[in-house]
Amino acid sequence: MKISKKLSENIQFAINEYVSDFETDSNEVTPIYDLRKISKELNVLPLVGDFGHIWGLNISGETVCFPIENLEEIEIIDETKLRFQGMRRRVYFLAAREYSNLIDLMPRQSNEDNDCSECKGTGRNPINDEIGFEQNRIGCKCFGLGWLPKQEDETIWNSK
Ligand SMILES: [Zn+2]
Repeated sequence: MKISKKLSENIQFAINEYVSDFETDSNEVTPIYDLRKISKELNVLPLVGDFGHIWGLNISGETVCFPIENLEEIEIIDETKLRFQGMRRRVYFLAAREYSNLIDLMPRQSNEDNDCSECKGTGRNPINDEIGFEQNRIGCKCFGLGWLPKQEDETIWNSK
């Protein structure tokens, strides 16, 4: 993914803001570790915590993922890593939703892409309401975006 110099600067700004802001524990990242220190060290904007891994953005606009207990295993998750495209979209979605100057990173639904059959486009898995969870504890196959790219929808989710 190629991003503008301005957008790269905006990501750096968001990282600096994250590192110096003590009110950021409300995002989806696990607060047990000192993520501000990690964010500063790796120069990465953390966005999602998932099974001991943190997903975020580097200043080139790439999605990165690292085990929280092993920072040197940080990996760039590009479009060739097919299994992780849903999570990659979620990273861009959250970056755009939580940081107004990163709105350009919002994944766009094309005319061809179907609304998610599970959540009917809301991004909230209905099972949460069935169980009585107020928060989105159980994720949806669309990773909260409310839609799936046509190709992925057909190949991964509807394959028989
Ligand atoms: Zn969904």
